[in-house]
Amino acid sequence: MELEVKEKQMKRVKKKAVIPQSECVACGTCVKVCPREAITIIHGIYAKVNEDICIGCGKCKIACPASIIRLEARV
Ligand code: SF4
Ligand code: SF4
Repeated sequence: MELEVKEKQMKRVKKKAVIPQSECVACGTCVKVCPREAITIIHGIYAKVNEDICIGCGKCKIACPASIIRLEARV
């Protein structure tokens, strides 16, 4: 229940993870830490975020060894 409240609060902020494709080395770390399974490795080349699923928790941003993930506000 507490997790549901937290997720609703995050949805109101509407921040989404953004991964620059050209800088991603497809290590898969972000995929493993995402609690919503919102990240997919595309063709083994780069990671892509499904913004419809992402709740902007920032776990991927913290975990990325290349430090390339940003959180951006969405309207
Ligand atoms: S911000 Fe959170 S929910 Fe969104 S892709 Fe990263 S780990 Fe997943
Ligand atoms: S953790 Fe960073 S470098 Fe690794 S797949 Fe995710 S975005 Fe790419």
